[in-house]
Amino acid sequence: MWQCPKCNREFAKTNQDHYCGKIETIDQYISEQTEEVQPILKKIREVIRIAAPDATEKMSWQMPTFWQGENLIHFAAFKKHISIFPGGEASTVFADKLIEYKTSKGTIQFPLNKPIPYDLIKEITQWRVAQVTGELITSPASTKNLDWHLAGYEQDLDRYDWGDSDKPKGREQL
Ligand SMILES: [Zn+2]
Repeated sequence: MWQCPKCNREFAKTNQDHYCGKIETIDQYISEQTEEVQPILKKIREVIRIAAPDATEKMSWQMPTFWQGENLIHFAAFKKHISIFPGGEASTVFADKLIEYKTSKGTIQFPLNKPIPYDLIKEITQWRVAQVTGELITSPASTKNLDWHLAGYEQDLDRYDWGDSDKPKGREQL
């Protein structure tokens, strides 16, 4: 293991030729990864882009990041896994779909020796978009998540001062 004294990145090969400055774009980040991992990162980026069409791409915490008023989701490549960082609640909300993955608060790890669950990444991103925009996802495939969203929706309804206008219907009336 060799650590570059300038950027502190670690490489298997001593004096490994690499981009030694600050990584400014997601393209640059991906191009710095191994050939094995690059297509996976490109696919993850594409899946997140589809799930969050209004988000802005940037680098944040030295990780590819999708931003929409706040950091929606980061992703990053590690030696044996890819991590996504979708905020603190995702690993709890999606717990039953994440049983076979290592999670901690704010982090979900997908090992590289297993297929990457792109659909799940998409679903988590959509949930994050709904979370930051306060919108509902009406996905019949995930009624549990729908319940969660509706619970949040109802709380929001109760917090808002409706005055004389009609308060929208909550879950019981839908
Ligand atoms: Zn360096």
